[in-house]
Amino acid sequence: MSVLKITNLRASVEGTEILRGVDLEVSSGEVHALMGPNGSGKSTLSHVLMGRSDYTVTDGSVTIDGEELLGLPTWERARRGLFLTHQYPVEVAGVRIVDLVDAATDHGIDEARVQTEAGRLAVRDEFLARGVNVEFSGGEQKRTETLQLAVLEPRFAILDEIDSGLDVDALRVVSRRIEAMTEETGLGVLAITHYARLLTELRPDRVHVFMGGRVVTSGGPELADELEAVGYDGLAERLGFAVPKPVSAEVTEDPFATPGF
Ligand code: ADP
Ligand code: MG
Repeated sequence: MSVLKITNLRASVEGTEILRGVDLEVSSGEVHALMGPNGSGKSTLSHVLMGRSDYTVTDGSVTIDGEELLGLPTWERARRGLFLTHQYPVEVAGVRIVDLVDAATDHGIDEARVQTEAGRLAVRDEFLARGVNVEFSGGEQKRTETLQLAVLEPRFAILDEIDSGLDVDALRVVSRRIEAMTEETGLGVLAITHYARLLTELRPDRVHVFMGGRVVTSGGPELADELEAVGYDGLAERLGFAVPKPVSAEVTEDPFATPGF
């Protein structure tokens, strides 16, 4: 049994504080859903957990079984059992998935293992032969990110909108596979999502609502249903506050939509 513990995590980018005191605790085998409006800092949280260098951590701690991860380079965090599936995966021309996962472990990964997972996730051979994410559709990217997750068997996975770009069938395949990992290997999951739909197969133990750079309320699976019904405004009203504005003025869902470009 392992525990990923995030305590009072604060982080800034270019002088603006985005994460404003995040507290979360995920144990092996558990699924935690993190739901929040655009621009509330969810992807920032995933990047800061993984150690992306353009964010400045100003306070708090992130531990796995008591060992501090903050300050470690990304690969060291991965080695300690943390894995991130990206909202916007990058293309890596010339590097196949099998090369990537093989290089990511000390013991090596053989093609047969990758093939088995590809079968379970309905990933066609042509995607195994290409460079990682090169000319993959959104759905293919998310399936193959899940394939990497399944093969590498980390202790904790952060899924940043794994459901975006997936059709209903692919969503079922991916979420079932991840749910199975929570039982087979005791994977602990932090699933960032907008939609309760993901959570019908990937059943959350806890649901956290994220606004203004922190968790504002937590509950059981019924909280996701409430959100679906009343929206963030409705939930904020019940809790007695207004939905905070996006944490910085420039909200860009599309990473290529550079203002003035
Ligand atoms: P979410 O994933 O909840 O939609 P993000 O974490 O992507 O939110 O973004 C939160 C806020 O932080 C946004 O206003 C975004 O523009 C800003 N932000 C995130 N990363 C960067 C960055 N690397 N540089 C500048 N601003 C950023
Ligand atoms: Mg995001």
